[in-house]
Amino acid sequence: EKRGKCPQLFRPDLGDDHQSRYGFDMSKPADPLSVLKSVYGYAAFRGKQQAVVEQVVAGGDAVVLFPTGAGKSLCYQVPALCRPGVALVVSPLIALMRDQVEALKQLGVSAAALNSTLSREEYGAIRRGLDDATLDLLYVTPERMATAGFREMMAHVKIALIAIDEAHCVSQWGHDFRPEYRALDALKDIFPGVPRMALTATADPHTREDIIERLALQDAAVFTTSFDRPNITYEIIERDQPRRQLLDFLTRHKGDSGIVYCLSRAKVEETAEWLNGQGIRALPYHAGMDRERRDANQDAFLKEEELCLVATVAFGMGIDKPNVRYVAHLDLPGSVEAYYQETGRAGRDGLPSEAWMVYGMADVVQRGRMIDNGNAVEEIKRVERAKLNALLGICETSGCRRQAILAHFGEAHPGGCGNCDTCLKPVETWDGTEAAIKAMAAIYRTGERFGAGHLIDVLTGKETERTERFGHAQMPVFGAGSDLPVKTWQSVYRQLLAAGLITVDHEAYGALKLMPEARAVFRKEKTVRFRKDRPTRGGSSGSARRGSDKRAAVPEHDRALFEALRETRTALAKEGGVPP
Ligand code: ADP
Ligand code: MG
Repeated sequence: EKRGKCPQLFRPDLGDDHQSRYGFDMSKPADPLSVLKSVYGYAAFRGKQQAVVEQVVAGGDAVVLFPTGAGKSLCYQVPALCRPGVALVVSPLIALMRDQVEALKQLGVSAAALNSTLSREEYGAIRRGLDDATLDLLYVTPERMATAGFREMMAHVKIALIAIDEAHCVSQWGHDFRPEYRALDALKDIFPGVPRMALTATADPHTREDIIERLALQDAAVFTTSFDRPNITYEIIERDQPRRQLLDFLTRHKGDSGIVYCLSRAKVEETAEWLNGQGIRALPYHAGMDRERRDANQDAFLKEEELCLVATVAFGMGIDKPNVRYVAHLDLPGSVEAYYQETGRAGRDGLPSEAWMVYGMADVVQRGRMIDNGNAVEEIKRVERAKLNALLGICETSGCRRQAILAHFGEAHPGGCGNCDTCLKPVETWDGTEAAIKAMAAIYRTGERFGAGHLIDVLTGKETERTERFGHAQMPVFGAGSDLPVKTWQSVYRQLLAAGLITVDHEAYGALKLMPEARAVFRKEKTVRFRKDRPTRGGSSGSARRGSDKRAAVPEHDRALFEALRETRTALAKEGGVPP
């Protein structure tokens, strides 16, 4: 009957009072703080860890929303050692389970992972550990958890608690939806009376609510802490010459380890190879690599200093490397949540770290296309587009980035954090109303059928095969914007997009279209302010011809334009083509 939790565990004489309070056998180590000290060697709980642990040890349910690196694992591991029975931990990745089990074994805790890669012997050992109640923690994949076979296996086993790690995977609002997580709503009925906890670093209110509902945790105590990561410096710059820009950034990090995220596997390989050629030790990581090489590169990253891991988003969930000094993005992530998660892998040790990103209009178009070509239902696509726009808003803000990021998670921050690019080098703004009208008139005049590249050719009066073919060189907007350089127009289009005045039509190959809100700007009922681009090293790549004699003002109050615009909008709205 007796089971030993951690043989080396210090077992204080807690007296009858303790026993009656928690209501379990004195032969078990019961006191969370002594578990923390003797098993982990930590002096004290951090933040709200203790409150969570107490809630679960006492048999309650908990939703734990702490940022990456806050120490969520301890929130279920300590109760697992305090309560009688085995703790079941749901985790989305086998690699993640393996790391956790390894770490626990190092601490002398009896832990195992149940997954499809087990040998017969390993499986047998787990069954024995369950039968003789010597197993403290069992990691289980979500698909296994809901099976009849698993239920049977657990029929006579005492369960200490059920922890669902990376719980955002249950929500399509989250950035990493796993359909297998959906089945976990049944756990409440399958294992009645067992305390359940959901843990995640995803903070936006939609995802939170969704997690609580989908996992039937309405009665759980919710624990949140600030999502601010004050030791991370944020910087988002316009893509100019990305490799040059990356290299400049990495020279600030000589001797450091960090992650460079790219969207595609091919780009991961190319970038890693190129960095090595530049004298920066880099290794690739993506899901298309064979298992052995991928694991070897991950291990190298975890163990070595001064290594740049170039990776797709396949890398990083649950990775616990405390001294990641930088996270760089060469491509735009899919959402603010994803950006926050990925950048959050920097600086888990609390020391100064940098989150750096280059991005341009092409990212927005590419991301949008990925959403549209994906096989999600329309409702989800709509959500995805909204998320992309939210991220764009953060990229284009002239205010404090930290404030913008935290606001997305429903957290108020006074701004002026002093540790992001916009705070460190305040952004100048300019009255862009006139430029906005020109940029949008170019869209409208050319029939809402073209992307920013062609529109900028039209605005700056650059004669090309296309301006010729479509007769755009004869239009009044042709050359109307030759007073501003190409880079400024690129920035104008991005900011119009971020402001919701225009949108990208991905079905029409990234053509820009006007949104109904644009009308107020055309009518000069609304002014537009743009952030000024920072001068980039080496000057701009393509400035427009100045002083073109084709320069012409767009008619200020073009009645026909407004009328037509209104008609287009009404028609679109009827077809349901105007996004919410
Ligand atoms: P999360 O899952 O929230 O991202 P982890 O559980 O992986 O974070 O913990 C991050 C790091 O913080 C780990 O190295 C862990 O050992 C450490 N840690 C957690 N709690 C404490 C504590 N109370 N005292 C010291 N270190 C802690
Ligand atoms: Mg974790």
